[in-house]
Amino acid sequence: MRKQIAAANWKMNLTLQQGEALIDELLNTPHNLSDNQQAVFGIPFPYLTAINAKLAGKENVFVSAQNCYSKKSGAYTGEVSAEMLQSIGVPYVILGHSERREYFGESNAMLAEKVNICFEYGLKPIFCCGEALSIREAGSQNSFVETQLKESLFHLTAAQLTGFVIAYEPIWAIGTGKTASSDQAQEMHAHIRSVLAAQYGAEVANSISILYGGSVKAANAKEIFGKPDVDGGLVGGASLIAAEFAAIINSLK
Ligand code: PEP
Repeated sequence: MRKQIAAANWKMNLTLQQGEALIDELLNTPHNLSDNQQAVFGIPFPYLTAINAKLAGKENVFVSAQNCYSKKSGAYTGEVSAEMLQSIGVPYVILGHSERREYFGESNAMLAEKVNICFEYGLKPIFCCGEALSIREAGSQNSFVETQLKESLFHLTAAQLTGFVIAYEPIWAIGTGKTASSDQAQEMHAHIRSVLAAQYGAEVANSISILYGGSVKAANAKEIFGKPDVDGGLVGGASLIAAEFAAIINSLK
């Protein structure tokens, strides 16, 4: 059975002290995680070690980086490598968030390199894909997302892809308060799974968790996560409020 995951994306928010207080509050807010469910905190690089230590011994709760660089090591001032993340015990890394694609020029080809380096160092990518509003309005969202997957992931073998997480995040729904309807989410998630099945077979496709992202909050999580191909969410704004994120965790199937 594939994992159901509530993943927080703090983006560039909170000081370390605020982040630690948020984690403490969340851990003290009633939330249930069965063995098939996980909570993942996508947090700024400088906090990974401290928050990871805070989560030690807590079951089914993990940290994630929000990015890593595509090269192994060397003269890339300011960048953080997959090996560095591995060396401090980080299991997950968010790759290809639309903000990185838009503000930092990350292309499908660069993301293919990042995916390779994560695989090499045993990091599990939470690979983001999703279309802009103009693409949805033109009705081209399925082929657009398919191209993102093909150009960044489909050079991997089935064994390499297993363990990856995909996050479908329509750009028009991120931070806008405008959520895709649960039917729109299900439709795209089913499409992504069918594209994966055509390339890797049904067994692999059915093993990959596909998260929905875009204005998920406590009030809509249960309905969206209730759809058969939606395996949880990648959550920005609402993950900064302990009670909201606890309720989102409790909405996992
Ligand atoms: C995100 O940052 O990935 C996201 C989905 O943000 P929000 O939940 O605020 O729309």
